[in-house]
Amino acid sequence: MPNNNAEAAFYHSMSAGRFPHAVLLEGGSVESRRQTAASFCAAWLCEASQPPCGICRHCRKASQWIHPDVTTLADGEGKQIPVDAVRALIAQCIVKPGEAARRVFVVENAHRLTPQGQNALLKCIEEPPPAVCFLLLCPSRKELLPTILSRVTAYSLPGADEEFSAEAVATAQKIADALARHDEWGVLAATAPFDKAKPLLQESLRVLKEMLRAGLLRASGAAELADKVEAAALAQLGAARLTVLLECAQALERDTERNANLSLLRTRISATMFV
Ligand SMILES: [Zn+2]
Repeated sequence: MPNNNAEAAFYHSMSAGRFPHAVLLEGGSVESRRQTAASFCAAWLCEASQPPCGICRHCRKASQWIHPDVTTLADGEGKQIPVDAVRALIAQCIVKPGEAARRVFVVENAHRLTPQGQNALLKCIEEPPPAVCFLLLCPSRKELLPTILSRVTAYSLPGADEEFSAEAVATAQKIADALARHDEWGVLAATAPFDKAKPLLQESLRVLKEMLRAGLLRASGAAELADKVEAAALAQLGAARLTVLLECAQALERDTERNANLSLLRTRISATMFV
């Protein structure tokens, strides 16, 4: 049974066959992050049909942090993680798993990675070798580079910094409302402020992803864990459609890094979401 929203959302995507290979877990205390991280590792390594089962050897070892296929990059107290440590971790990616079907690499204090270290991780996170998963832990996603954020599936524990501006939340809400109404024109209208503000566009996409994920949880029956108001309207779209929309939002977020033409990006939002 999931202990929090983050676990519920993660287990759901596992059982739906959408397997996140690069995950960010933010918020909570150091201890709660570690506990949830252990549950994520168990879910990745467990071979039961509904992982994590909690009783198999993979689940038991993962929950005690003694699974040989879980490699942790810890850092010295309060220090930055040197880029060489990241490179050493990446070099281990080619080693085959010992006991489980895959290996998990955990970066415990991802906020202590230098920009250089984050860049070194980027390629690996974007296209992880087969059978490799990455889990980054940090107090707040604000402390990581946008390039990392657009390549991970992020989960939040209670107490994560409220990072979103009111404007981004309002804009994402308008897009979500229009999506729930199947209103393509409404989406285009809601994205009008993006023509002049790339940061707002990127932030609104991140908010929208959270709303879609909450809707997906609700649509999958985890209603009590997805109590956000917008989740109810979005949930009516159904899990399959919401999954497509979530993937769209993720792809659009990556587009924003490469593409400087904001009007084009903006029209692409409504175009791709209504294909
Ligand atoms: Zn298990």
